[in-house]
Amino acid sequence: MRYFELATDCFLVEGQNEAALYDVHGGRLFLLDRSAHELLRSCADGAPVPDNSSEDAVAFLDALQAAGLGFFDDAAAGSDKLLLHQPIEWKGMCMTPPDFKSVDWQITNACDLDCRLCGDDDKTLSWQSCQTCLRRDAGGAEAWMPEDLEAFIADIANLGVGTLHIRGGEPLLAWQRLERIAQAAAETPLTLVVTTTGMGRPANDLIALGKGRRFGLNIVMFGHDDETSETACGRSGVLAAQVALIDALVEAQIAFSITFLLTPLTQGRRNAMQEFAQRRWRTRPAFSEVCTREDVKNGFRLSHLDERERKPLAPWESPEMFFFRVRNNTCTSGLLEIGADGLLRTCSGLPKVHGDVGRQGLVAALSGTGLYESWKRGKSDVEPCRRCALRYACSDCSSFEFADQPDANAKSAYCGYDPCDDTESAIEREWTPTSFVRPLRLRERA
Ligand code: SF4
Ligand code: SF4
Ligand code: SF4
Repeated sequence: MRYFELATDCFLVEGQNEAALYDVHGGRLFLLDRSAHELLRSCADGAPVPDNSSEDAVAFLDALQAAGLGFFDDAAAGSDKLLLHQPIEWKGMCMTPPDFKSVDWQITNACDLDCRLCGDDDKTLSWQSCQTCLRRDAGGAEAWMPEDLEAFIADIANLGVGTLHIRGGEPLLAWQRLERIAQAAAETPLTLVVTTTGMGRPANDLIALGKGRRFGLNIVMFGHDDETSETACGRSGVLAAQVALIDALVEAQIAFSITFLLTPLTQGRRNAMQEFAQRRWRTRPAFSEVCTREDVKNGFRLSHLDERERKPLAPWESPEMFFFRVRNNTCTSGLLEIGADGLLRTCSGLPKVHGDVGRQGLVAALSGTGLYESWKRGKSDVEPCRRCALRYACSDCSSFEFADQPDANAKSAYCGYDPCDDTESAIEREWTPTSFVRPLRLRERA
């Protein structure tokens, strides 16, 4: 009797209907057709390869063995593949201390621009808002500030945090506060990143703020031409001022990134915005999107579902990174946000509150478990992604941001693939083969 076992670094991950084969060391993801899935499922269950197997099945397993993805054996497969189905939790004395990577801090709620969908958290949904200045509550009170600002920055640095990310509203409207934060951060190993539209201060002030420090600016833009920009942010002349600022940053060699904030009215210009930033500054911009819950009901789809980009499946750079992904949410792990309201959340895209930094102080707010549990809330914990065979390769966070949205259209707003679709090869139709992801059919060789 012969058995077939997958290589120790090769995992069969099953969704509700379909399955994928993860070649962890080879950095490849194979989308299995139904026959290949059924065959490998039965091998993984410890069933022998039937003596009367079809020629195709034997050739398929031979090819997997030749490609180093598995091997024939005289004994049934062991249970070493449980890892991806029952991740082991280390608790109590064995729990590792939290690895704080980045703190997002909204130091002001003020802004002079007038983006229609900003500051109305109850009615809107956002994607990657942590890269923007979007507010939760535009009418909120003056932002919370610690009594001893310098000591607070030192406390953040003492946690081992790498990046202090200052957001607003518009942090340049709280200029004195921002200068004190920059000075205090410069006394620590922290890297300071400020997300801003750049409006409200001369370029030279921003250059002086960052010169000679571990510092970067993330400029939030609204369009590649005046009309698009004004449509989104409600004011003319913003684009010209931003272009002049970024040109000055390039000249002064201040590190910067660009994030375009898209709305349903401007998302159709995404490619033009990307080309604009690449042509002028050789910079690939990031994108964030905001829409109303009503838009989602009416069939809104995030722009990265268009033909050019499709759903992002991200290769892992090393086996360690792959296994980190299995156990953690790579988007949020190590991240915490202190809102303008002084409340502790994981990030701007996730509304759940884990503590009150304003009332309790930083250390007490961080002593609850909610934040750390959120770092581990991965795709295996949200519907419908937990039914998806690609849940360890899909890098998109929108499923977390849109997860609690009751509307039935919410899923199609962020992903075109339906893991509950039981028609043959639904998984193959959604992705174009690349060097990372490719179909693997029983009738074809590995
Ligand atoms: S610029 Fe930023 S903070 Fe100001 S209204 Fe627009 S999204 Fe909100
Ligand atoms: S889920 Fe990820 S991308 Fe979205 S806001 Fe939070 S940290 Fe940012
Ligand atoms: S977002 Fe789509 S592709 Fe990603 S895990 Fe969820 S269902 Fe799968």
